[in-house]
Amino acid sequence: MDEFALINAFFKSISPHRKDVILGIGDDGACLEVPSGKTLVVSTDTLVSGVHFLSSWNPFDIAYRSIMVNVSDIIAMGAQPCWISLALTLPEFDQSWLFNFAQGLKSALEVYDLALIGGDTTKGLLSITITVHGLVDRNHELRRSGAKAGDEIFLSGEIGAAALAISLMDTPIPQKDRNIIMEKLLKPVPQLEFINYLYPHATAAIDISDGLAADLNHICQASKVGALLDLSKIPVHPLVYKYKKESACEFAMQGGDDYVLCFTVAELAKVSFLQLIHQANLSCYAVGKIQEKLGLFGQYSKNKILPLVPIGYRHF
Ligand code: ADP
Ligand code: MG
Repeated sequence: MDEFALINAFFKSISPHRKDVILGIGDDGACLEVPSGKTLVVSTDTLVSGVHFLSSWNPFDIAYRSIMVNVSDIIAMGAQPCWISLALTLPEFDQSWLFNFAQGLKSALEVYDLALIGGDTTKGLLSITITVHGLVDRNHELRRSGAKAGDEIFLSGEIGAAALAISLMDTPIPQKDRNIIMEKLLKPVPQLEFINYLYPHATAAIDISDGLAADLNHICQASKVGALLDLSKIPVHPLVYKYKKESACEFAMQGGDDYVLCFTVAELAKVSFLQLIHQANLSCYAVGKIQEKLGLFGQYSKNKILPLVPIGYRHF
């Protein structure tokens, strides 16, 4: 067996089995069963060493996080993630590195019962390209383009901690705090439980990968609307207040890597949506309103509204 055959054998064994995988790893292509009435949703992300992660990180964490950031996109479409393909570029054949990487993959795949259905393995600078395939009921996908003036803007979780982990990477801080924020960076938790409640209530959705300001701006541009965020309502992670003090909210909004959902709900649907969410023991935060006036604005206090810069935090 050459090293690539070994890799294939390695990865084949870690995948959960799914009935809808007609043909998995081992042939020229995978065959998958798409039920009638469902739409196939496909999303790809590349993670490059030194850009999206550091090669010094534990390979388990690199693999785990790579899966999660990709799954997050499918969930933001309102779809159920099902199948993954993995294109791996490796600088060398390091069996112990690969073993740990495969364990991280396995652990992440099991969270969402995802099957690894194929991929490619090449030699070069370390990079990981993952394609996630998911299913959503026909015409029920959540796009970025459906937000309307008057819609309420929601976040499904706290923001800022993952970006804080990056910004404090070389700053001495108590180990307890470091563990909390590194966990947020390395182990994002895409919130699959939300997809059952978003349709038909949500008019638009996106996952926060580049920062609330940049990603909400994507919704605004796709929907041809603007947004006014109430800065007192942004769920900023408590440790961001501790380390970033006065600039905590701005830091969190421009941070990124949060992988929580940002979505909009029509004013009239808000009450029934929140009832469902609470019945399901989920929580979300109302952070502002979509408005006709284009651009992104922040309400700093009762009479103070200022434009927000829709750029995300630049990593490394
Ligand atoms: P081909 O030369 O036909 O592209 P490969 O040798 O690249 O075939 O791959 C053989 C099989 O192993 C294929 O089914 C492919 O999908 C799978 N495979 C290769 N690399 C990976 C990987 N990193 N993860 C999962 N499956 C892989
Ligand atoms: Mg190939």
